[in-house]
Amino acid sequence: MRLARGCLLLAALAGAGAGAADPAAQRAAMVRIVAEDVRASADYLGTDRLDPRVLDALGRVPRHAFVPPAERDQAYENRPLPIGWGQTISQPYIVAVMTHLLALEPGDRVFELGTGSGYQAAILAELGAEVFTMEIIEPLGERAAATLQEQDYAAVSVRVGDGYDGWPGRAPFDAIIVTAAGDHVPPPLVQQLRPGGRLVMPVGSRFLTQQLTLVEKGEDGGLSSRALLPVQFVPLTGGH
Ligand code: SAH
Repeated sequence: MRLARGCLLLAALAGAGAGAADPAAQRAAMVRIVAEDVRASADYLGTDRLDPRVLDALGRVPRHAFVPPAERDQAYENRPLPIGWGQTISQPYIVAVMTHLLALEPGDRVFELGTGSGYQAAILAELGAEVFTMEIIEPLGERAAATLQEQDYAAVSVRVGDGYDGWPGRAPFDAIIVTAAGDHVPPPLVQQLRPGGRLVMPVGSRFLTQQLTLVEKGEDGGLSSRALLPVQFVPLTGGH
């Protein structure tokens, strides 16, 4: 979810113009809006365009299948939507930006903290990644697993639990994505990132705004970190 609100009007117009009955056309309109938002935020991102494979993935994943029935008519608007239990499916723009920052190659192993609806995991799988995603709210994790199975995303494994500790049995990971906000990057996740790997997470106050942060682990194990963009995510919960 991005703080800039200017995109909402554009998103609403695009949704209205795309024709309610044609998800593919709605997705194409959504992808155009996301690309426009990327251009508008180029100063933050350091680029005015995302990896085209990421936008193609956004154009393929049926976001409407990942949102509750009551939200389906808004599934292709460029904004977060409620998915129950006080949680949200992230704005497509932010899903695209975070995915781009991971710089995935087919076959990469990715850990996601915060399955939510399963949509972000599906996008990662569309890029050829093997995805291990963890959700702390049991009914959400179960619903996401069912949706991912219905949509044939066999490369995604969902587990219910506290993702702060990562998924040691499947580590090391080429990339890690945290889709809930915390005031620090969980050390177990840094440990489970392979040398040369990338981690992206909203870091900052859990209840105000955060900075979308990219952590890179060098081949020598050294860490470098960059804050890119102000964002607002739901907080990381659990025992930490
Ligand atoms: N990536 C999701 C959106 C995530 S919203 C999507 O594509 O829909 C953030 C999710 O993180 C919520 O579902 C929340 O329950 C979950 N979460 C918060 N703290 C967690 C933790 N410690 N471990 C695992 N999941 C957590």
